[in-house]
Amino acid sequence: MAEKHVYKFSKTLAEGNRDMRDLLGGKGANLHEMCKMGLPVPPGFTITTDSSTSWRKAGKKWPEGFRDQVREAMSWLEGETGKNFGDPKNPLLVSVRSGARVSMPGMMDTVLNLGLNDETMEGLAKATGNRRFALDAYRRFIYMFGDVVLGIKAQKGEDCYFHSILDEVKKRSGKTEDTDLNEEELGEIVSRYKAVIEEKHGEPFAQDPWMQLAYSIHAVFSSWMNDRAIEYRKIYQISSDWGTAVNVQTMVFGNMGDDCGTGVAFTRDPASGENLFYGEFLMNAQGEDVVAGLRTPHKIEELKGVMPSAYDQLEEVRNILEEHYRDMQDIEFTIERSKLYMLQCRSGKRTGLASIRIALDMLEEGLIDEKTAISRVDANQVTSLMRPVFNPDAVTRAHEEGRMLAKGLPAGPGAASGRVCFYSDEVEEFKKEWGQVILVRVETSPEDIKGMEAAEGILTARGGMTSHAALVARQRGKACVSGCGALEINYRLRSMKIGEQVVVEGDPISIDGTTGEVFVGEIENSPSEVIEVLIEKTRKPEDSATYRRFARLMEIADKYRSLGIRTNSDQPSEAEMAVAFGAEGIGLARTEHMFFGGDRLIHMRKMILSEDLRSREAALADLLPFQREDFVGLFQAMAGKPVTIRMIDPPLHEFVPQSVADMKQLGKQINVPWEKIRSRVEDLEEQNPMLGHRGCRLGITYPEITAMQSRAIFEAACEVQKKGINVFPELMVPLVGHVGEFKNQEKIIRDTAAQVFEEQDVQVQFMVGTMIELPRAAICADQIAEAAEFFSFGTNDLTQTTFGMSRDDYGKFIGEYIDREIIKADPFVSIDEGIGRLIEIAVERGKSTRKDIKLGICGEQGGDPDSIDFCHKAGLNYVSCSPYRIPVARVAAAQASIKNES
Ligand code: ADP
Ligand code: MG
Ligand code: MG
Repeated sequence: MAEKHVYKFSKTLAEGNRDMRDLLGGKGANLHEMCKMGLPVPPGFTITTDSSTSWRKAGKKWPEGFRDQVREAMSWLEGETGKNFGDPKNPLLVSVRSGARVSMPGMMDTVLNLGLNDETMEGLAKATGNRRFALDAYRRFIYMFGDVVLGIKAQKGEDCYFHSILDEVKKRSGKTEDTDLNEEELGEIVSRYKAVIEEKHGEPFAQDPWMQLAYSIHAVFSSWMNDRAIEYRKIYQISSDWGTAVNVQTMVFGNMGDDCGTGVAFTRDPASGENLFYGEFLMNAQGEDVVAGLRTPHKIEELKGVMPSAYDQLEEVRNILEEHYRDMQDIEFTIERSKLYMLQCRSGKRTGLASIRIALDMLEEGLIDEKTAISRVDANQVTSLMRPVFNPDAVTRAHEEGRMLAKGLPAGPGAASGRVCFYSDEVEEFKKEWGQVILVRVETSPEDIKGMEAAEGILTARGGMTSHAALVARQRGKACVSGCGALEINYRLRSMKIGEQVVVEGDPISIDGTTGEVFVGEIENSPSEVIEVLIEKTRKPEDSATYRRFARLMEIADKYRSLGIRTNSDQPSEAEMAVAFGAEGIGLARTEHMFFGGDRLIHMRKMILSEDLRSREAALADLLPFQREDFVGLFQAMAGKPVTIRMIDPPLHEFVPQSVADMKQLGKQINVPWEKIRSRVEDLEEQNPMLGHRGCRLGITYPEITAMQSRAIFEAACEVQKKGINVFPELMVPLVGHVGEFKNQEKIIRDTAAQVFEEQDVQVQFMVGTMIELPRAAICADQIAEAAEFFSFGTNDLTQTTFGMSRDDYGKFIGEYIDREIIKADPFVSIDEGIGRLIEIAVERGKSTRKDIKLGICGEQGGDPDSIDFCHKAGLNYVSCSPYRIPVARVAAAQASIKNES
């Protein structure tokens, strides 16, 4: 028996259902489902996606049994409607609609009113007593058939042949809208359209309805392989093997007069998520008139006044659909002589804000349960609740006024406006004069921290999503657009060029770190209510519905997640903020940041420039109180929550001056001839600093540094514990590849601890563990776990060293890799499969020697939902990310638990 190519749907028969998207396409599956639900859907049938695939594989030949099944379905449809296809007295008209598994703009457009020809048009005119309407339907059909099916397109530089005819007739008769055209004018349009087809296609317009149908099905099948569709599939990684379904459906008419109309709607507001019916309609119109923008549509509420009974039907359908699908729906409908017909429904696209609100509202309304609610939220979008946002109307206006300058990477979500400043050390002063400042740099480095902190937002010409600027911005909650290649920054002139436009110091600009867009001038924004409640405490929880939604979402997330959530923070204020966002500990406190602040850098530099142990120890002794003070702050802020502190990691040259002027200045400050400084700086130069003298290698060659840092940590811990506040430090040795390296450092740490505890006469609980950030460490994790009490996966370095690509240089080629689909995603943003395998190996081997080894991740990927899903499956205890990502991580961790539950 031949395969089943055709699935019918009507009031009494629906052969498919919503779960058959793969076979019937999304549109088809939902048409069948709506029939099953008893909603008013014009009857029709769906030709399967498999048929289109067979057709293509057979070299564009109808598969076996196909033609007969379509004929049979058409006669069934004639029976359902009491009309006959091609019958001049009472013609059956249909639409031919494409519909893939996932909605795919770029596929063939819809053909309406198929079955009309010179004779049936007259028949339709008689049957409806409305010749104007019949002509209107006919001219629409000829146009769609010519445009969509025959592919008659204007030559470059010309207007569409069909549109120019329509415009010409309207102009000549002084009419502005299609609805004003009379019979005579529509008749003229029909014959001229037919002439266009004959001329461009080389054959007269097909009068045989069966030919029209065959042509159209053929065109839908073919559209799967058109350039637009191929391009779209590439972007969204849709398999080209699937093929598209075709829906053939009885026409209903919204263009029969003033008791008719057509429209599109969302069952809730897709922008805010509010439980409001949201949509547009047009009276006396057909198909896509609403979206085509030829006439201005009316808001859906106005239908209440114009056609109350139709509005009531629609409102009822809205409720039935939401009750049934338990999600916000996007619908298309037509009203024929005051009766409503449903033509499409699907889950509606929505903003991040709306996705949260809709999920929580539906939970409240009892439509969905907690697990479904949390799974519906796009975890990444949770940050949108925590950032100031540009007022959407203001952004639209800025676009219309041509104020968009350039687009870079959306590196730090949030909106910011301010005056341009090119020098980090001038931001604070600028701020006094101008209020808000945007720091613009080619790229940033640790020296820029102070300026970045003071700035409202950061814009860089170079660097990716994990550049220094991006990292700091996300950690500090600043808006940031990075890698904006269009900027030509001239520091000397204190200006930048973007194409022809020049922006100078002090000019106002706006950056949107959620979209990567950069604008000239200011754009109004509103602050995040969540931040106002949680951090700034300028708003009470009960005054903010947005905050209450945020809190509810977090409550549900925490109920379902099993992963712990920590933060990467090294400053008390930041740590406190992270706790407010839900951090349960610090997963990575980088100690080197502590060397840059205030007066510390000078001591650090003295230490580095020391020529012998004695002077180095003296400089370290000067640094000790600073470090201790930092740790006291951190331990107090975390009050008993675990704090993982990484021992010094970056190569020392990052701390010393690079320019002669700076060397001279430093020479004066510390009383050393500057030439001496230069020669020491030259000594520190390395070919590959990333693989050079850094990490535990520093602590091994300069054990006194490890000793000083450990002492500062333990003294701080004792001090805080004596105040009655719990402390739990976890000292972490970086860049270990060999267990010998770890043991060397561990001994210094434990010896120091013993000394300090004896001096202070207290005992503090602590752990010593390591980062796993080298492939050797992952492979030999069983040996390392003999000594190390915990592992924290440093996935930034682990990615660099496993791929053998430097994060500072990969920007040159990674774009190409992703464009050409060599790899799926940026491995520095989302954990790569190979890195994942190494992590799995390390987890397994680590546990083989230390069953209860504590496992976490502190790389940037720790805040990425896909990576969090991986970490959950890999059996890690916690993920750690920047403070502003914590709510994202809480939601993503809950989603991972729910998804992998069995
Ligand atoms: P798209 O996928 O581009 O939305 P559709 O197949 O949904 O294309 O068709 C677009 C519009 O054409 C529909 O929203 C509806 O207004 C109209 N349409 C399609 N089929 C019919 C029909 N059988 N009767 C009346 N209008 C129809
Ligand atoms: Mg369309
Ligand atoms: Mg549609």
